[in-house]
Order: sequence, then structure tokens, then C-alpha cells
Amino acid sequence: MTLAETAALIRRAALALGYVRCGITTADPFPEFIEAIRRILARHPERAELYEGFLSRGDPRHNAPWARAIVVAVRRYGVYRLPAELVGRIGRNYLCDRRVPAHPEHSMPARMKAYLRSLGLRVKSGSGTSDRWAAARAGVVRLGRNTFAFAEGCGSWINIECWRVDAELPPDPPTPDDPCPPDCRRCLRACPTGALCRPREIRMERCIAWLTYAEPWPIAPELWRRMGTWIYGCDACQEACSLNEGMWEERLPLPWPEETVARWHPERLAEMSDEEYRAFVHPFFWYIAPEDAERWRANARRSLAAERGEGNREMVGRGT
Ligand code: SF4
Ligand code: SF4
Repeated sequence: MTLAETAALIRRAALALGYVRCGITTADPFPEFIEAIRRILARHPERAELYEGFLSRGDPRHNAPWARAIVVAVRRYGVYRLPAELVGRIGRNYLCDRRVPAHPEHSMPARMKAYLRSLGLRVKSGSGTSDRWAAARAGVVRLGRNTFAFAEGCGSWINIECWRVDAELPPDPPTPDDPCPPDCRRCLRACPTGALCRPREIRMERCIAWLTYAEPWPIAPELWRRMGTWIYGCDACQEACSLNEGMWEERLPLPWPEETVARWHPERLAEMSDEEYRAFVHPFFWYIAPEDAERWRANARRSLAAERGEGNREMVGRGT
């Protein structure tokens, strides 16, 4: 079998598994990604510790020197019915997280990896760099000015999965241009914390998605006050984007958020004990610190305060 035939089989298998796009790119470095990190580092040396760690990720071979190509697949999650009371509080991406074992698409990446191995390929999951840049170079998405990846007919309500492989599979043509109307700045204006400082560049330490779970505590008050109702994650720049209009189709049920919806109400989160956090919340967010119950309680208190229109009042974090 030729490498082109192998690539065709891989694309077909990805679509058969439920992915909506599949493309291939080389395992060469991503200079645009590295340049974006360097620009942020130059402007914000005080956050060097955070950003320097990303530089090695500009090279997909940094931890897989044998890699020759990256297989990239796009999964569309903007097809699920979500409980209305959670939208605007917990990011849609997290509500549709296929890593949760109860998610109907939970096993897709493992099955794809097994298929690649069945072709005799050496495989490592992940692109080793920004999956979004890998997907743009594989021609399956275009990167918007809000840094999100957009797939034709899906908007940015997608997840990207990558597998590095050891075969020189023929790459697809890249899609380097952005999909944005020339004068559009809606996402930059919609970002509550100024994390989108310039097109395709995000200051992670200002992004609410990061601030709700990863930024060392306490959060700077000027950012905390702007985090609004978000308890975990943030969709503001995606909700504001015209490219996402009509792209969320509520046509499939998603059992786990529906069955557990009462647990995620901010009133309940604000009052939960450490034991309740470990028993009911952490199993769905197992990748963050198990002792972070107070951060969730504080985020829930802020969310409630913002809903009451107290967004401009001094709202402080931990322990209040
Ligand atoms: S996710 Fe929210 S905070 Fe982050 S860049 Fe988008 S709008 Fe800004
Ligand atoms: S809001 Fe406008 S500029 Fe931002 S990603 Fe969407 S189309 Fe592009």
C-alpha cells in the first residue's frame, strides 16, 4: 500500500468514527506559534514562567523525534442540548467534554489511535504543539482572530484531536488565512478581561477560562470583577462571533449534564462542602486540583453576585 493510500484510509476511518473532518500535516515546527509566544514574552516578561513552558511545544518532535506526520481530526460538539441554566456559567466545551466517561463519544480518540496502530504506525496522541495550528496546517480549520479554530459548517464549536505518526504521509494543503470579515472586531470587544490583545494572540493569564481554575490565587481584583457569571470556562468571544451564528444545533441529548444539572447551580456550588466537591464536582474535572473546592465556591459566589447586578461592586475571592 502506498502512503497516499494509507492517508486515504485514515481519512475514511476518521469520518466513519464520527469525526467531521480529517487532514494530515507534517511534523515540522510551527513558527507562527513560536513567534506568538515570543511576542507575548517580550511584552510581558513578568509572566515568563508561564509562557516559556510553551516554547518547546512549537516543535512536534520535541518529545517524539521519530514523528513524520500529524493526523488531525475535528469533532463537532455544537450538536448537543445543554441545560439552559448552565449556559453562560460553565463553558460549553466543558459541558460537552468527551473525556467524561459518560459522554457518548468518549472512546472516539482511543478507537482512532487503535486504528492507526492497526496500520502498523507508531502513534503518539496530541500534536505536541497547539492543536489549532496543526489543524490549520492540515487544512481542516481556519484560525479566527479570537484564536479559536473554525471548521466549515460547524463554527468554532469543535474539538481537535491529533496523533503524531512515524510515516511520511502526504500532507494536505494548509488553510492559513483567517475566516473573519475584514473589519470585524466583535470578539475583541466582547472579551471581558482584555485577554484578546491582538488578532490570533491571547494572554492566557487574563483569559477567564484560565482564571477560573488555573491562575494562582488570589486573582487580581480588576480581573475578578470582570469575570461575571462564569464559574468555569468562558464562551464570550465565541458567543459574540458572527461565524458561529446558527452553528449550534440542539439535536442530540447529552445525558450527563442533564442528569447532574442540580449540582452545578451556583447556589449549590457556593454552599458545597469539601466532601461534596470531591464526590460530585471533581470526578467531572479530575484534571484540576482535588483540594480546590474553595475556588469553585468563590467562583459560584461571584457568579451569583454578577447575576444580581453587583458586577461593579468590589467582589473579592477566597474565603468571603
Ligand atoms: S474565552 Fe472569554 S476571557 Fe478568554 S479570550 Fe474568550 S472572551 Fe476573553
Ligand atoms: S468575532 Fe469577528 S474577528 Fe472575531 S473571530 Fe469572529 S469573525 Fe473573526
